[in-house]
Amino acid sequence: MDAGPGGPRKAKRDPVEQLRRHERQQALVAELGRSALTGTPLEQLVEDAVAAVADGLGADRVGLLEPAPGGAVLVCRSSHGWPEAEMLPVALDGDSQVAQTFRTREPIVVDDFAGDDRFPGSHHLVAFGLASGAATPVRGEDQPVGVLVAHSREPRDFGLDDVVFLRAVANVLAVVTARELAEERRRQSEESLSFLAEAGHILAETLDYDTTLANLARLVVPRLADWFIVDVAEDDGTIRRVVVAAAQPGKQELLEELSRFYPPTAGSPQPAAIALERGGTVHFPDFTPESLRATTRDERHFELMQQLDPRSAIAVPLVARSRTLGALTFAWAESDRRYEGTDLALAEEVARRAALAIDNARLYRSAQAARAAAEEAQRRMTFVAEASETLSSSLDYGETLGSLARLAVPGIADWCLVYGLSGDGSIERLAVEHGGGEQEAVAAVLAAHPIDPEASVGVPQVIRTGRSELHADATPAQLASDVEEPEVLTSTLAAINVCSTMCVPLVARKHTIGAILFVSAESCRRYTENDLELAEELGARAALALDNSRLYREVEERAEAARALATIADGVFLVDEDGVIRIWNTAAEVITGLPRAAVRGRPAAEVLPEWERIAALVPMRPPRERPAAPQTIPLTVSGRELWLSISAVGSSEGAVYAFRDVTEERRLERLKSDFVATVSHELRTPLAAVYGAALTLVGRDLSGRDEIQRALVAQIAEQSARLAAIVEDILLTGELEAGRLRLEPAEVDPLELARIAVEAARARIGKDEAVELVASEDVGSVNADAGRLRQVLDNLIENAIKYSPGDGRTEVRVEADEWTVSIAVADEGIGIPPEEHERIFQKFYRLDPAQADGVGGSGLGLYVCRELVERMEGRVLVDSVPGRGSTFTVELPRWPLA
Ligand code: ADP
Repeated sequence: MDAGPGGPRKAKRDPVEQLRRHERQQALVAELGRSALTGTPLEQLVEDAVAAVADGLGADRVGLLEPAPGGAVLVCRSSHGWPEAEMLPVALDGDSQVAQTFRTREPIVVDDFAGDDRFPGSHHLVAFGLASGAATPVRGEDQPVGVLVAHSREPRDFGLDDVVFLRAVANVLAVVTARELAEERRRQSEESLSFLAEAGHILAETLDYDTTLANLARLVVPRLADWFIVDVAEDDGTIRRVVVAAAQPGKQELLEELSRFYPPTAGSPQPAAIALERGGTVHFPDFTPESLRATTRDERHFELMQQLDPRSAIAVPLVARSRTLGALTFAWAESDRRYEGTDLALAEEVARRAALAIDNARLYRSAQAARAAAEEAQRRMTFVAEASETLSSSLDYGETLGSLARLAVPGIADWCLVYGLSGDGSIERLAVEHGGGEQEAVAAVLAAHPIDPEASVGVPQVIRTGRSELHADATPAQLASDVEEPEVLTSTLAAINVCSTMCVPLVARKHTIGAILFVSAESCRRYTENDLELAEELGARAALALDNSRLYREVEERAEAARALATIADGVFLVDEDGVIRIWNTAAEVITGLPRAAVRGRPAAEVLPEWERIAALVPMRPPRERPAAPQTIPLTVSGRELWLSISAVGSSEGAVYAFRDVTEERRLERLKSDFVATVSHELRTPLAAVYGAALTLVGRDLSGRDEIQRALVAQIAEQSARLAAIVEDILLTGELEAGRLRLEPAEVDPLELARIAVEAARARIGKDEAVELVASEDVGSVNADAGRLRQVLDNLIENAIKYSPGDGRTEVRVEADEWTVSIAVADEGIGIPPEEHERIFQKFYRLDPAQADGVGGSGLGLYVCRELVERMEGRVLVDSVPGRGSTFTVELPRWPLA
């Protein structure tokens, strides 16, 4: 088979030997051909072929080389006699025998490398102890798929039959490889077809967007990629990463991290972004660190990508109805595969189908959303329409409130609370509706707690600002945010599971009249802006209904009041804040003779002559609603003189006046006092005569008469004096009432006057120590009628003495301050019960009319005192404790007047 050791440098061709080898070679080729025909697997056949070449050529080393991925070098696929260490890759563009065989597609033989300088690239073989070699290309469809080469240690003279043999073996390999390739292609396309069929099926399976994409990822990984990404282009131009899927769990995490920190953006160097921008497929057949770096934005991004370790990638845009919807990114990583032309076509096909499915899902989703929105709108419209109907079905305020709360539960809320704002600014819970059960207890607790109108959130805030509040994620505490001490409710509120709240104001005719609070609790519904809109709609209608029922209630009340007004005997009229008469009832018409039509809507000052005096009757200080004592005022209306007893109260709308016609009473009163005055007057003259005569008798020397006579004369004098005083008081009273009394105010020294009065009293009772004057020196003067003031003091001192049985002392104190001088008459007598303090100033009023304790009087004294002092611009005050004594104080303005 070979020349053997020690043979000639070039083996000598021996014809017999040559024939035998030829026959052997033919047998080997025939054997190989048969083996190929019987379906021996390619790998086995390659090995057999290499062994056959070694055998047929008697070569020391044989190798079948083929292009490595990337196509730059040829590497050994199968070998015979080659030590591993010496099997070096052969550069395709080099000048070695093998490279040139591949390039020229022709067999090349080298008898002796040493004497041949055509293939410098093969000279290293000499160092491996090889001297000669024959190489032939293994043909592929259009270019060689490898090189079959045999080497020998000896230089040799390759003959034509050797080359024919080598070529024949290469041909067998080529045929089988071609067959295998065709088979592989068929298998691949079948696989692709079935893959696409499956993809089509999965993608068409559901119209749900997310499920569609998740299914797509499941389909692609690991069959078409080690990891896979779906990016979707939104309408606003942003790119959203919707799916990442990796075969390895660790890579899944890395992909998620990648999505978080480096989501693709328009113009970024990431494959998906490029594919989206170009609208075409981007292919990275074989990543180098540099080409990988080029797809990243910064160092960290690059490091992340290195960990993901893609070897090859494709990014394909998703296009449907000529719109780019997104991009798919496929990457081979750990399985160390590469994407080739056929993969591109498959990926594009997947993308086409995925785009269709995504588009369908999107269409479906928007159709769904549109339908849901339409249904929701319909539902709301129905609800609001029903609500309006319910709310307007009753004009009863309480009923309206109740139905409002019931409308909301459970339709919109688990709890519904309706709040009202009162005139004084306080906030009340008007209605509470809930599902019952445990909530009943909570409602009771809530109801027991007053609302803090100053609270900065919740109902008070909504009422203050008129703006709604939405708390999508609420806490139980929020239900109590407006109560004065929310802490005390915490534990109770924990029992209900508050999820979400919304509060809308109730606004009627531009005034906020309250608020509705909607609470979602056990239903755990989370309120949205849409719900708030609905709540506001309900609030608007509820406010209208509440306002209507409130108006109705007011109208009802007014109607009732009007009926009452029309039937009562008292004249009633209302004057608004502008002084215009608004109400004038039937009795007022009858009493005054002024028809309603002539009065209503006109200023009171034009209609009523004494308006100034009448207006002054309204209490100036609160409570203005409480009427002061009625006053009797003369009015000349339509030429008639009327006496009206009028009282007045303030109201929110102005002032209400009620009056009675007392003209007749007044006339009788007048007759009576005229009669009394006439009688008194007539009594005066005879009394004066009796008194004068008695005094004359007392002054005479009656020593000759007996005691009895003297006493009788003294009694006549005393009693006639008393009778005269009573008559004087009656006459004075008549004058005071008729307004005929004239006073002459002037500068008066109160101290001097008090001193004279005290002296007179002492003289009268004959006991100096019983009446005492206490005064500071400089009290100044008062503006008064001296005679009348003296009369007042005499009267008060006389009462003090009269109503102090035993040894009671009377003290007269004169004091002054900046504006007034006060003269107080204090006794230590029987005193006056508090409830009588006002009445003792009435005419003829006496505490003890029967004179049980023997103290007489007319009951006119204090009346006269007060009337006189008031006519001097002063006042009389009483302070008394029964059993301890009384103090009557006269206060008068100082002279000169300020
Ligand atoms: P009279 O003529 O009865 O004294 P007045 O008008 O002076 O009439 O007083 C009215 C009533 O007031 C008296 O009847 C008496 O009951 C009570 N009163 C007046 N002054 C005193 C006083 N200093 N102490 C106790 N009661 C008095």
